[in-house]
Amino acid sequence: MKTIAMKFGGSSLADASQFKKVASIIKSHEGKLYVVASAPGKRCKDDTKVTDMLYACYDSASQKADFSSSLDAIKARFSEIIVNLGITFDLDSEFSVIAKHLSDTPQRDYMASRGEYLNSKILATYLGYDFIDPANYVFFGQDGVLNAERTNTELARALSKTDHAVVAGFYGTGADGKVKTFSRGGSDVTGAIVARAAKADVYENWTDVSGMLSADPRIVKDPDAIEEISYKELRELSYMGASVMHEDAVFPVRSAGIPINIRNTNRPQDKGTWIVAHRENPAQSGKIVTGIAGKKGFSSLRVEKAMLNNEVGFAAKLLNIIASAGVSFEHVPSAIDSMSVIVDSAAFRANRSRILESVQDILHPDATIVDTGIALIAVVGMGMVYKKGVAAKVFSALAKAEVNIRMIDQGSSEINIIVGIDEPDYEKAVNALYDAFFR
Ligand code: ASP
Repeated sequence: MKTIAMKFGGSSLADASQFKKVASIIKSHEGKLYVVASAPGKRCKDDTKVTDMLYACYDSASQKADFSSSLDAIKARFSEIIVNLGITFDLDSEFSVIAKHLSDTPQRDYMASRGEYLNSKILATYLGYDFIDPANYVFFGQDGVLNAERTNTELARALSKTDHAVVAGFYGTGADGKVKTFSRGGSDVTGAIVARAAKADVYENWTDVSGMLSADPRIVKDPDAIEEISYKELRELSYMGASVMHEDAVFPVRSAGIPINIRNTNRPQDKGTWIVAHRENPAQSGKIVTGIAGKKGFSSLRVEKAMLNNEVGFAAKLLNIIASAGVSFEHVPSAIDSMSVIVDSAAFRANRSRILESVQDILHPDATIVDTGIALIAVVGMGMVYKKGVAAKVFSALAKAEVNIRMIDQGSSEINIIVGIDEPDYEKAVNALYDAFFR
């Protein structure tokens, strides 16, 4: 019998009609089914997510202001779902517990978690599934980080007692015994934790897009959806700003070798994107590049010094200066007599004088040059390990588009080529690269 972990995002469970779609997707599966639900998301563009309503309600309560109308508005969202699903659910007693909590000692994370708690309980009632409250099974350590092993053991035990359950996403219990949430979008993480604990064959992550796109649709018109991507490629693209799920959701399933399938609740017929541990010779499929992603907002600090190549420990000292200022670096392109460090502009700006003074005092350079306004673009694909001429294609596409390349870095994993360019060229460069590899 197959075991499937399925996570449904906020837009998939925003109202009763979405609940019905979700139920028919779940019912079309067979085997042990563990469902993770988010709080109701936006029903249309200008709508408000229930989680945001909960935070606003908490803000009023914590300032001792009247929170009753904002709590009523939240209750109305759930009430509409219950009425339109035609189920019996005691919303009044749930909301009197919440109202009492807000009047006594309001806690921000507890309040935020009620969206997932109620939506999951409602979904469990609608499906006739068991409801599992993660407050009893998902644990965070003193450092605020998920206690992955304890959680896995406790959750596995709970899941082994049922074949069909809905687990609320987004929260667990902190070291102080109080409810604690993940960062925003954290139901993805709960889904991954549940998949691992259930030893699922697949983690289906149901959202409102038919998978991950090979480029940012705000820049490239109608980019292809990615059919298959490895965890490693996903990491590279997410790091450069491509987003499809919460970043931390990859680790639990990756270590357990469980594939992720990103699917669209509104178009269940689409295959979506498969995120897998290994891809068999991906170049054979004709796709050398899996995706293109990038970000603006980087600066380069270039330190020049004659005979730098003979100075042992120069690089370590420079990186130490950056690290001591609490700034992390992205890339370190170097030449014989100069070395550059590419850093996030905002982090650098906040520590600029301290870094420049240390460079002067410790490294005694001939010149120190700061360039701002750099954008980085990563061209990512397992296929390039097997294929010649990928770098040449990147550079000629950018040259043809008259984009000046400021920095080049091929990651040692050989699955990405990163270029640094001037920010104003960013959109043009992404399109040129997309045309070269995808059109
Ligand atoms: N409801 C939470 C949020 O809006 C968590 C989630 O949806 O994953 O961030």
